[in-house]
Amino acid sequence: MKNYKPKGRLSAKEYIDGILSGDRVILSRGITIVESNLESDKILAKEIIHAILPHSGNSIRIGITGVPGVGKSTFIEAFGQHLIKKGHKVGILSIDPSSQRSKGSILGDKTRMEELANLDEAYIRPSATGDTLGGVANKTGETMLLCEAAGYDVILIETVGVGQSETAVHGLTDFFLLLMLSGAGDELQGIKKGIMEMADMVVINKADGDNIKKSEMAKRQYQNALHIFPLSESGWSPVVTTASAIKNIGIDTVWNEIEKYKTLVDENGYFKKNRSNQQIQWMYNNINEELKRMFYGSKAIANQLQDLEKDILASKISPVKAAQLIIESFKKNM
Ligand code: GDP
Repeated sequence: MKNYKPKGRLSAKEYIDGILSGDRVILSRGITIVESNLESDKILAKEIIHAILPHSGNSIRIGITGVPGVGKSTFIEAFGQHLIKKGHKVGILSIDPSSQRSKGSILGDKTRMEELANLDEAYIRPSATGDTLGGVANKTGETMLLCEAAGYDVILIETVGVGQSETAVHGLTDFFLLLMLSGAGDELQGIKKGIMEMADMVVINKADGDNIKKSEMAKRQYQNALHIFPLSESGWSPVVTTASAIKNIGIDTVWNEIEKYKTLVDENGYFKKNRSNQQIQWMYNNINEELKRMFYGSKAIANQLQDLEKDILASKISPVKAAQLIIESFKKNM
């Protein structure tokens, strides 16, 4: 190991040893390095990830999504505590795409998962840096590896925004959980059909009080809706269940189903196969992000783009021709 150490940082070895020993403070500092866009941090991050990689992967990675207000943080608060009681260590990464553009982040608006946050066996981290969704996914993926190396054996990746990051999260996880409400159509809940299709489990939350009957009805509707989709390659038929995150009802069922899923996909080989495919996809994501960064990060390209925009607006050149020209000049300067 080169044990690289940029100014103002720990050495690579200090991060690696700290993370592997489960030191939460160093884990947090390591994640900051992984999220950083500084060139010196990128070199450090590569060294850290290379060293911790053999210690990562020993977890079940669960994606959790649903519109704001459906009860995701309440659910994770209950679910996380349930898992900890069962002896697990839970890493929770929240992706909030809304914070990419505006400074105002959904995550910043409220204190989320307060009780869980106080437990040593839980580690909660918003994962919102990066200027593209692909970039966020790559960095969340690396953050996940660091958490696994630090001993967290259940990773929950939650999307906090609306309908943008689900596919990215699906590409990082083993099991995809969709939280829904009764009494509102899919359209009202902003859930696209593609997202329903990705779900391994649909949980109708807030099945309490006056809502119980409606939730049971919704459960049947979603069961019917899911039956229309072809059986997934995993061999698993998506499960629909009701729960009340706030009253802690049905939370154990969710974990029981996930354990059943894990047994099935371990036995039929899908778990491994899916992770392998994700690794390949991850490489392409990184290539795409790096290419974009190189291209749009170039000053010469930025200037030329400005001129081309003007030429297009003045009908001096077609968009296709303009794109061709700029790619040609990028290739020449590579
Ligand atoms: P998120 O935006 O998806 O993270 O949703 P929150 O967890 O912040 O929940 C939104 C609101 O719904 C809060 O006022 C919660 O107290 C409430 N809530 C969450 N889960 C339940 C539940 O199971 N039953 C009821 N009745 N309310 C819930």
